[in-house]
Amino acid sequence: MEGPGLGSQCRNHSHGPHPPGFGRYGICAHENKELANAREALPLIEDSSNCDIVKATQYGIFERCKELVEAGYDVRQPDKENVSLLHWAAINNRLDLVKFYISKGAVVDQLGGDLNSTPLHWAIRQGHLPMVILLLQHGADPTLIDGEGFSSIHLAVLFQHMPIIAYLISKRQSVNMTDVNGQTPLMLSAHKVIGPEPTGFLLKFNPSLNVVDKIHQNTPLHWAVAAGNVNAVDKLLEAGSSLDIQNVKGETPLDMALQNKNQLIIHMLKTEAKMRTNQKFRLWRWLQKCENIITLAETGCLDFRTFCTSCLIRKPLRSLHCHVCNSCVARYDQHCLWTGRCIGFGNHHYYIFFLFFLSMVCGWIIYGSFIYWSNHCATTFKEDGLWTYLNQIVACSPWVLYILMLATFHFSWSTFLLLNQLFQIAFLGLTSHERISLLKQSKHMKQTLSLRKTPYNLGFMQNLADFFQCGCFGLVKPCVVDWTSQYTMVFHPAREKVLRSV
Ligand SMILES: [Zn+2]
Ligand SMILES: [Zn+2]
Repeated sequence: MEGPGLGSQCRNHSHGPHPPGFGRYGICAHENKELANAREALPLIEDSSNCDIVKATQYGIFERCKELVEAGYDVRQPDKENVSLLHWAAINNRLDLVKFYISKGAVVDQLGGDLNSTPLHWAIRQGHLPMVILLLQHGADPTLIDGEGFSSIHLAVLFQHMPIIAYLISKRQSVNMTDVNGQTPLMLSAHKVIGPEPTGFLLKFNPSLNVVDKIHQNTPLHWAVAAGNVNAVDKLLEAGSSLDIQNVKGETPLDMALQNKNQLIIHMLKTEAKMRTNQKFRLWRWLQKCENIITLAETGCLDFRTFCTSCLIRKPLRSLHCHVCNSCVARYDQHCLWTGRCIGFGNHHYYIFFLFFLSMVCGWIIYGSFIYWSNHCATTFKEDGLWTYLNQIVACSPWVLYILMLATFHFSWSTFLLLNQLFQIAFLGLTSHERISLLKQSKHMKQTLSLRKTPYNLGFMQNLADFFQCGCFGLVKPCVVDWTSQYTMVFHPAREKVLRSV
């Protein structure tokens, strides 16, 4: 065969596609001279019968190679650059020739070229998966390290050949295999290949996230931060990489990011740290609750009438679970619409002050409005009658009228609630919730229930003293009861005396 036939044959047997991303991320140094030569377009040769064996191997001219080998050429003999025929066949994906050379005694793991690589290393750099499969089937060792210190899986990661990575791992190549510097494929990927892949791809194979390399003692996250590889940082954080491991200089990934002044990565690391702290806190709370339940159950106190199924705690006496605030509130009074939160043991007295001062201010505004009208409007209720008086004051200042109406509205509810609260506190010793509950209960009871005859009613003075926690010139002393942790009735020093007087 000669002429056009051969030419087209040579053209069709080119070197295959260039690997995607080859040399993109500062990995040009990993190329060697042979690889560079191999990637150049092969010139067409006119006459295959005169090809030397290297050229015939590169072009995949099987007949010519066979002819030369049968004529006595030693397939193990390297060329002047110490590259074997198997290397040339592997880099050009010549499957038939590789099978042929191996059958003729070629050494599968022959080291050659500037980088002291095996044919498998060459095939991986070029991304020839069928060649990788064939070489492994013939006993190639993927754990061998090349002159740059990389094993097969490291090269596949560096040159981003995902199918080869997946195949090597499936063939029991460790995803945590270390190179000469103790770097795992994940570290190499995070450091050398900017972008989400192959870091994200490697993470699917469950690699060790927190191993460190031999020299810098960096984790994969350290390497990603060092390279400013935002996508890799994101993937590693999502996978749960540790934020606390320190490298040989005592730096965490965050320290490294602060040094590099990479604001986006600093933000990502800080946000993740905050989120993890919250998760730990939630877990701690959960464990506390579990311990609580065990203690209650084992001491015979796990009574579902006094156990909050939302907070998973034993409810203190007089407390109630508020479904708006989603927590148990000690000495619960009400969920106040005006303040938007629960009124209970901790803030009940502030609520009384709030009502008191609101009533005072509204009363003062109402008083001020009438003073304004008496001074500025030429009308009086007595002289002109109600209708004329109202018309006159509306015409005099509609704004003052509007303020008066508003103040009157707030005065009415705040005064009503204040009086109601003071009555409950001073005369009944009850909260609003307890009073309403007792009133509801009394509807279903035959005998009338006296709201004043409860264990919490200790008499007018004592009730006020206990509520506001202040004495009255030695007449009464406040009794301190912590209602957030009171589970049983308390003996009150004034109780006996007061109960008799009710
Ligand atoms: Zn609760
Ligand atoms: Zn509430």
